[in-house]
Amino acid sequence: MWKLMAIAVLVAVASPAGELYDVVVVGGGPAGIGAALAAAKAGAKTALVERDSVIGGTTVQAKVCDIGLFSAWKRQVIAGPAWDLVTNAVAAAHGTLPDFAAQRPDKWMESCVRVDPEVYSRLAEETLRKAGVTILANAEVAAVMRTVDGWDTGFAVGRQIVDTTGNATVAALAGARRVKSPDDLRQPGSFFFWISSKGAKFDAAAVDRAFKKAVADGELLPTDVHVGMSFFIRKGGGSGCYIPLADNSTPEARAATNRRGIEARDRVLAFIRRQSGLENVSLVSSAREVGVRETYRVVGEKTITERDYLDGVVEEDALCWSYWMVDAHSAKMSHARLVFHKEGKIGSVPLGAMLPKGVCDMLVAGRAVSSDHGANSALRVQASCMAMGQAAGVVAALAAARRCDPREVPLADIKARLSEIGHIVPLLEKGK
Ligand SMILES: Cc1cc2nc3c(=O)[nH]c(=O)nc-3n(C[C@H](O)[C@H](O)[C@H](O)COP(=O)(O)OP(=O)(O)OC[C@H]3O[C@@H](n4cnc5c(N)ncnc54)[C@H](O)[C@@H]3O)c2cc1C
Repeated sequence: MWKLMAIAVLVAVASPAGELYDVVVVGGGPAGIGAALAAAKAGAKTALVERDSVIGGTTVQAKVCDIGLFSAWKRQVIAGPAWDLVTNAVAAAHGTLPDFAAQRPDKWMESCVRVDPEVYSRLAEETLRKAGVTILANAEVAAVMRTVDGWDTGFAVGRQIVDTTGNATVAALAGARRVKSPDDLRQPGSFFFWISSKGAKFDAAAVDRAFKKAVADGELLPTDVHVGMSFFIRKGGGSGCYIPLADNSTPEARAATNRRGIEARDRVLAFIRRQSGLENVSLVSSAREVGVRETYRVVGEKTITERDYLDGVVEEDALCWSYWMVDAHSAKMSHARLVFHKEGKIGSVPLGAMLPKGVCDMLVAGRAVSSDHGANSALRVQASCMAMGQAAGVVAALAAARRCDPREVPLADIKARLSEIGHIVPLLEKGK
C-alpha cells in the first residue's frame, strides 16, 4: 500500500504541470512582450507567464513610461512588433511620437516615446492575444524541471524558454550562474509618486534648508529626494525618490523594497506638509511598485562590456542594436555616471550574451542579459529590452521548430526570420 502511494506521488511530481508550448516566455515586461510577439510571429505556439495580474513589467508597475531609445544618430534602429505596439499605444492615447530627425544625444529624454502605462498594458495584452499568445497571469515561476520535451515551469512546458524576468530567475533555477554588482556600485531603485503641489506658493530656499536639517537630524534620508526638495515639490513629484539596493528578485526582497518605497514616500509627504504654504499638499497617485534598475545579470556565453558597447563593436552574432549612454545611477552621490557614445557609434547585443552558459534550450533577454555593470546601465532601457526580446523570441521559435538548441540554429536563418518580422538586424561593417 505505502509502496503504491509512493509511486503515485513520484508520478505526480514528475508529470508536467502545464500544456506543452514551443516557446514559453517568463516575464511580461518590455523584453517579454517583444519575445512573445516575435516568437508567435515566427510561427511558434507561445505562452507568456507573468507573476503580476497585468502585462507591462517596469513600464506599468513602476510607471516608467518614457520608452527609449528606438533611434540613434537620427535614424530608427529598433523596429518590429514591439515598436508597432508602442506606436499603437501612442495613437490610442492621442500622444505624439518624437521627431527622430531632430535627435540630440544630450537631450535623450526628448527622443523617448511616452506611453500611458494603462493604455499600453491593455493594448499589449490585446496584441499578444491577437498574435495567438496564451497569457498566464498571476503565475510566479519558482522552480523549473527538465522534461523529455524541454523545461516545465510549473505553469507551462516549453521546448524553449525565454527568461525575461529581469533577474535571470529561470536561468538560475535551471543552473545558470548570475552575478550582481557590489552593494556600493549597484544602482538604486526609484519610487514614483505624485503630489498636489503644482502652483503652491512657498519659500524654496527655506524648504531646501529645512530638508538639509531634516536629513542631518535623521528624519529623512538624503536619497528620499535626490533632485532637490523645492524642485521636486514644484514639479508635483514624479521621479526623484531613490530606494538604495532595491531588489525584486525574490518575493521577500520585493516586499521589503516596496515597503521601503512607501515609507520613503510617507516621510517625504509628512515633511512637505510641515512646510509653510504646503500644509494642504496631498498624495495624488503612486506607482504600483518601486522601479528596480539593477539586480542580477546572467553569465552568458559572451559578456557585453562597457568598452565594446560604447565603441559600437558589432560581432557576427549581433542580433539587435541598443542605443543609450552608460547611465549608472549612484544612490550615494545622488547622480548618474553618464558616458556617451562617440559620434555615429551604436551598441549591439550578440546572441552569445543571451545564451546562459551551461544551460540548453533557454535564452535570457532584457535587463538581465550577460553584461558588465557599465554596459548594463545602458542596455537595460526599454526599447533595447524589446529588441533583445524580439531576437530571443525568434531564435527560440526556430530552435523549437528544429528540435535543437539555440546554439545550433544557423545565424543566417535567424537574421532572415528577424528581418521578415520587421526587426532591424545590425550589419557587420565591411572588412570585419
Ligand atoms: C526608476 C527607473 C527609471 C527608468 N527610466 C527609464 C527611461 O527613462 N527610459 C527607458 O527606456 N528605460 C528606463 N528604465 C529601464 C527600464 O524600465 C527597465 O530596465 C526595463 O523595463 C527592463 O525590462 P525587462 O523586460 O528586462 O524587465 P522588467 O520590466 O523588470 O519586466 C520583468 C517582468 O517579469 C516578471 N517576473 C519577474 N520574475 C518572475 C517570475 N519568477 N515568474 C513570472 N514573472 C516574473 C515581472 O513581474 C515583470 O513583469 C528605468 C528603470 C527604472 C527602474
